[in-house]
Amino acid sequence: MLPIDIKKATENQLTIIWDDGHESIFSMINLRKQCPCATCKNTRDNQSHDPLKVLTSNEIIPDNMQVKEAEIIGRYAVQFTWSDGHHEGIYSFDFLRELCECEACTDTVAK
Ligand SMILES: [Zn+2]
Ligand SMILES: [Zn+2]
Repeated sequence: MLPIDIKKATENQLTIIWDDGHESIFSMINLRKQCPCATCKNTRDNQSHDPLKVLTSNEIIPDNMQVKEAEIIGRYAVQFTWSDGHHEGIYSFDFLRELCECEACTDTVAK
């Protein structure tokens, strides 16, 4: 399973078309929040341990987060560069399919 095309659907939504014909839709803010890099993982873990923790300014993810660039890494992942300059996250194709917010995928989860 490989992405054939990655494009901006709207100002804050991203579409990925896969080689199996599936068309995934993602809200950029959600993708950014799910960033799998070590720094973001730590931030999320700390938040869940201490929900009252006050976020520092560089931990706050603005709602208008945008993907600046999407680069395919080998045959397994996509690396996004975000409008806040963050680019450490490597999103494996499997992970992206799990995050897919299209109607078909969210339906499956709901059932
Ligand atoms: Zn990250
Ligand atoms: Zn989907």
